[in-house]
Order: sequence, then structure tokens, then C-alpha cells
Amino acid sequence: MKTAVIVRTLIVFCLLICIVVQATMIKKMNKKLEQVVILDVDNDSLVTYSPEFLESKTVVLTPRYVDRFSTCQSPFRDGKEFNTLLKEYVHSNWADLYGARRGSKACRRIHEGIDLFVPENTPVYPIAAYGIVTEVSDNPNFMIEVGCTREDGTAGTTLVEYGKIVRVAYPEGIESVYAHLNDVFVELGQEVFADTQLGITGITGNLVRSGKPSHLHLELRDADHVSFDPRNRLRYNKTNFSHFLALLNLGETDD
Ligand SMILES: [Zn+2]
Repeated sequence: MKTAVIVRTLIVFCLLICIVVQATMIKKMNKKLEQVVILDVDNDSLVTYSPEFLESKTVVLTPRYVDRFSTCQSPFRDGKEFNTLLKEYVHSNWADLYGARRGSKACRRIHEGIDLFVPENTPVYPIAAYGIVTEVSDNPNFMIEVGCTREDGTAGTTLVEYGKIVRVAYPEGIESVYAHLNDVFVELGQEVFADTQLGITGITGNLVRSGKPSHLHLELRDADHVSFDPRNRLRYNKTNFSHFLALLNLGETDD
């Protein structure tokens, strides 16, 4: 009789422990699930699950998302294909495209973006469906340090006046930089979607002194922040999410 009571008590005790362990596991699993962001496509639109994105640690891109959003969209949200855009809005094939000569004899550099001539104050948008703002400045004289080649052939750096800028990183492993803007409408760390207005084109930075008309200076950079010819984006298959995951901690880091 006494043994039966002990056995029963033990069973009840074990059951209680099981319930507690299970509850803890479910709680842990839910917490893990909260840290996952799934990018998917439904009816041709981007769908994201887990809205607390900046606290998340994992991004999952479904095949549907990759299929639908693997190419760049026009920064003007005019429905134009990226390659058409390059042809239509560039004035000069030798001066406005990527790789054109810039700088002075003392410090030669290349044009690290493309110049797209659209009317002043034209709204600009992300070039992919989803991204995070990683740099923003509303200083009309904002400068960025870039690499150049000195007269003696050695590598140097110089400050280039980009003016008001927005930089957006995408889970595809690329980032876009918009320069010479008249105004910026987003904040550092902000999630942006295809229809988020980042700013408006204008005349800021070194464009003020260049005598050129207002245009969007658009740069595409890879996960290591190295610029590449936007025309190559059409054949760009490198996918590197790691840098994007690092950005998810943007609010917690010092830099
Ligand atoms: Zn430019």
C-alpha cells in the first residue's frame, strides 16, 4: 500500500516535471521563431512575417521571393526595367556611367555610380522589395572618403562631397547609395519597402559647383561595400546574406 502511494506520487511528480520542461521548450521555441523573418510573395506582393524585424536574427527568403525580386527595380518606381532606365536617363555614355574618370591629376578616381537625369525633386525609392537604411545624411555638404590613385601611382584617399544621401542594404547582398538629394525622408535603421519614399533628387554636394543639371547619382555596392557597374546587376548572382544579418544589430552597435 505504502509502495503504491510512493509510485503514484513519483508518477505525478514526473508528470509535473514533464509539463514544466515542455512549457519551457515551447517558450524557447516561440522565442526562436520570433527571431525569424520570412520574406515571401503573395499575389505578386512582398509578405514579411515577424514584424519586429530589427530584433530578428535570421532572414529566410522563399524561392518565390528570390524569383520575383532577384532583379533591380527602377529607383523612380516608374515600372521601368533597370537596363532601360540606364539607357533612358543617362545623358553621356562616357561621363555619366560607372567607371568614368573623376578627380584631379593629383588624385584620380572613378565615378562609382551612374548619373540619372530626372527633373529636380523626383522621389526616389529602394531598388529592391525590402531593405534597411544603413546610412543617411541631411547635410548638403556631406562627404565620403573614397579611394584614388596619386600622381606617382600609389593608392590614396580623398573626400568626395556627396551631399544629402541615403544608403540602403538589401537581403540580396547588395546596397544602393543615392546622392545629391534635396531632401531625405528616412531614418537610420529604418525598414524600407518598394514603395517607401527615401528622398527627392536635387542639387547638393559637389553637384552645386559642377554646373551639371540636377540628377540622381546612384551607386550599387556589394556586401563588402565595393561599388560595381549597375549594368552588371543584371548578371549579378552573388547572394550574401551574412552582411545583412549583421545589420540587424544596427541599433545595438556603436558604429
Ligand atoms: Zn555621379
